Amino acid sequence: MRSVVVASLGLVTFAGFLAPSVHAASVGSAAEVKRPVAEGYGGAVATVDLDASKAALSVLRQGGNAMDAMVAGAAALGVTEPYSAGLAGGGFIVYYDARKRKVTTIDGRETAPRAMTSTAFEGIPFDEAVTSGLSVGVPGSVAQWDMALRRYGTMPLRQALRPAIEIAEKGFVVDQTFRDQTQQNSVRFADFTSTASLYLPGGQPPPVGSVFRNPDLARTYRELGIRGPAWLYGGALGREIVTTVKKPPVRRGTTRNVRAGLMEVSDLSAYQAIERPPAKVTYKGLDVYGMAPPSSGGSTVGEALNILEALPKIGPHEYLEASRLAFADRNAYVGDPASVGVPLDQLLSDGFAKERACLIGPRAMAHPAAPGSPDGSYAPCPSAIPGASGASEASVPEDKEGPETTHLVVTDRWGDVAAYTITIEQTGGSGIVVPGRGILLNNELTDFTFGPAPGDPNLPAPGKRPRSSMAPTIVFKDGRPLLAVGSPGGATIITTVLQILVNRLDFGMSLPEAVAAPRASQRNTAATQAEPAFAERYGAELTALGHTLTSVPGSPVGEIGAATGLEFLRNGRVQAVAEPGRRGGGSALVVSPHR
Ligand code: GLU
Repeated sequence: MRSVVVASLGLVTFAGFLAPSVHAASVGSAAEVKRPVAEGYGGAVATVDLDASKAALSVLRQGGNAMDAMVAGAAALGVTEPYSAGLAGGGFIVYYDARKRKVTTIDGRETAPRAMTSTAFEGIPFDEAVTSGLSVGVPGSVAQWDMALRRYGTMPLRQALRPAIEIAEKGFVVDQTFRDQTQQNSVRFADFTSTASLYLPGGQPPPVGSVFRNPDLARTYRELGIRGPAWLYGGALGREIVTTVKKPPVRRGTTRNVRAGLMEVSDLSAYQAIERPPAKVTYKGLDVYGMAPPSSGGSTVGEALNILEALPKIGPHEYLEASRLAFADRNAYVGDPASVGVPLDQLLSDGFAKERACLIGPRAMAHPAAPGSPDGSYAPCPSAIPGASGASEASVPEDKEGPETTHLVVTDRWGDVAAYTITIEQTGGSGIVVPGRGILLNNELTDFTFGPAPGDPNLPAPGKRPRSSMAPTIVFKDGRPLLAVGSPGGATIITTVLQILVNRLDFGMSLPEAVAAPRASQRNTAATQAEPAFAERYGAELTALGHTLTSVPGSPVGEIGAATGLEFLRNGRVQAVAEPGRRGGGSALVVSPHR
């Protein structure tokens, strides 16, 4: 949902629960309009959506810190971007605590039920798995929000949920993107009575310009605030989720084969968010912190940066090749570290990166690139012509992660920084709304490798977290935050974050330019996906080097990602950045344009 008219219609004001001096109406005209870039002081936020950015900003103005505002923003996105985010999903936070000068991460990834084995998805068509109870993972977001607030925030969950409750109750104005996403999902939404009654009122997607309310979700958030996370993790809401997963509320007469899920209430009771050390690399004197496994975000962005650092020069060709190699290693070695051994230190080591960089020659390397051996023993580059070796006999698993999800960044007046990617996986998740609760269930377990794939680190297992590509990232210069970025886009998240960093740090672009620049994504596939503007600009040069560019499937306009970011400028000035165009453009806001 990306509406510029909400504020002017007066639909979203938080005066009811904020001190009079901080309600949204006082934000001033600069904050009422959806803009992709804002600069100022005292805190900043960028999300895909004006209402969500305003929700987070209102909490900053109220005196909340970045973690408080991040939870408020994420909960609001659960209302206005319900097909990408929500309390029945999961995500990853990378957080800088300025007072402790510490970077940490919180893993709120969904887990497989304990009854799920490695063959659970074998032989099941991907599309069938998407719209099923089987693919619903144990939701992680609520446990993650709770941990984030308890350990790093200043507000109780109840308070952080208030802006979202307000939006869910009063409604938001439907824009083209929301309508399009509903339309794309309408056939499967129509197959579930609960989903159809919420998102297809009168049998149709809500028209652009209409006000969309989700009173069930407002009640769910409110009750969650009162009862706390235990209401979900083992309590009554949890039982309702389990009932829905095991017996999805299908429409009478549907011909859809909707597979039941394996989740039990005990799976919910057993769920825990996990605070983890970040994945870290240094890149040209900067410290880059990302998300460690079970996300492959930090390891793959980090390895690609290390490879680039080992090269004498960087251009579009080198960017694609480094990404290709890093994806070969990601696919071979990264999974949930609780289930498989992930050689993270070696994947992020300079020695390994140097060995991998030897494979990058003047022309595109043979496809597919074989994974390397991150074993701690690395050889100098052989004198043979690089780029000729390294091709693998193995086939590369098809990338099936969805193109949706959402990313937000928040910083506060104390200098804390939150980069948060949140998802229910596919646009519209499993397509199944919990009756009476206004929440869409995720289909995150489709991020597992379906198999058969012996030895694959990402096969399902009891309680396992599926490998993610989410890559919230914070970059430091001389011990101080310089940039925070992230994006949705399934596995293209990694290449989008990498490309923004390279654009900003190597190609001399400002952060807004780096975000807006045309994108391409090479993930150890034969062809590199490219936005039309990228193909236009670099197509001839890259094709001459042996690259094949192709358009992005499933996206009518061929877009990759929908990033948001922050740059910490001089003297406490912060630049918040969202997309100027992709997904209808995002919303950047600052607490105050002036000191
Ligand atoms: N489920 C994906 C992941 O965890 C994200 C989905 C998306 O961005 O489309 O990597």
